[in-house]
Amino acid sequence: MMLELRDIYKTYLQGKMEVPVLGGISLTVSEGEYLEIMGPSGSGKTTLMNIIGCLDSATSGEYILEGEDIAAVSEKRMSEVRLKSIGFVFQSFYLLSRQSALENVALPLLYAGVRKRERNEIARRALERVGLGDRTDFKPTQLSGGQCQRVAIARAIVNNPKILLADEPTGALDTRSGEQIMEIFKSLNQEGVTIVMITHEPEIAAHAKRTLHIRDGLLLGPDGRPIKPKAAPQAEPAPPAPKPSQAAIPAPQKVKKPRQSLVPPKLPHMPGRHKPDPEKGQSPESGQEPAPALRDPDPQVSPAPAPKQEPLNPKTQKPQEEISGQSIIASLERMAAAGREGADHEE
Ligand code: ADP
Ligand code: MG
Repeated sequence: MMLELRDIYKTYLQGKMEVPVLGGISLTVSEGEYLEIMGPSGSGKTTLMNIIGCLDSATSGEYILEGEDIAAVSEKRMSEVRLKSIGFVFQSFYLLSRQSALENVALPLLYAGVRKRERNEIARRALERVGLGDRTDFKPTQLSGGQCQRVAIARAIVNNPKILLADEPTGALDTRSGEQIMEIFKSLNQEGVTIVMITHEPEIAAHAKRTLHIRDGLLLGPDGRPIKPKAAPQAEPAPPAPKPSQAAIPAPQKVKKPRQSLVPPKLPHMPGRHKPDPEKGQSPESGQEPAPALRDPDPQVSPAPAPKQEPLNPKTQKPQEEISGQSIIASLERMAAAGREGADHEE
């Protein structure tokens, strides 16, 4: 088995208010599966994906990934797992706009300590795998939206992850580019990559081998009804000494450790938290300043609404990035910086 979720609850803290988002999700994904999770906007898809991707922790419940109890591991281990075992594809690509396709794809390898010559070779092969062998030197601004997403897929698979997670990967693309992306996913899955994809587009979901539906933080059963967790939290007697902050969280009896003290309620610049905004570029580290625009030459891509303002650390008034250390994009930015410095010392 690839992964198993048991009674996963997620409650965000919005100021002092608790926002229950996932209400007890249980799910297993086998090796080689191609699973699609469908649901309307706001149903908790991205929240679930972030937990599966070790970008965020559940409030309670168990998550076993390749036999490892993820709820029990350190932040450091979580980021190792992300690097080694998981490939991410997001709706808005998150490519570094000043780097070539090849450099973007090679970034995870740089992070993994692979030397330049080798990583360029592996990255080139990954780009060939997504049909972009002739675009290695192009920057994201010189590529179409569909091509950008293919670069992002090449980056996601360059480390040979066990599992590929895609959060609305075609959401910002025209139908034809979306179909191309689905073809790539299909052939990756045929090559043995486990895929979990999220969408709200039925045509896209039709490509998966198995589809699950999510509504209001619960998966739906074959009868279309929400699958309630076995021990409904309301029916449970109150745990012996609930901490005040956990009192209203469903099913707190399984809380392993006070995750909410480790993870800020809303991770700033969390991939997938933003509405698609190609104009904003891909540099979340740039704070509120718009990053150099990723020009999308595809006229069919309609401009997206501006992203919600992300909350700042109330003390420092800075994004809470450093506290979480969990944004893959922050990691990528750091990798890029390290790469520019490292390049002088290598070879
Ligand atoms: P989806 O991806 O299905 O559109 P999300 O998982 O992004 O849904 O969000 C589900 C619900 O959780 C929404 O109501 C959203 O407002 C809320 N939510 C998501 N992230 C946060 C957060 N960091 N803090 C508070 N509420 C959040
Ligand atoms: Mg989402």
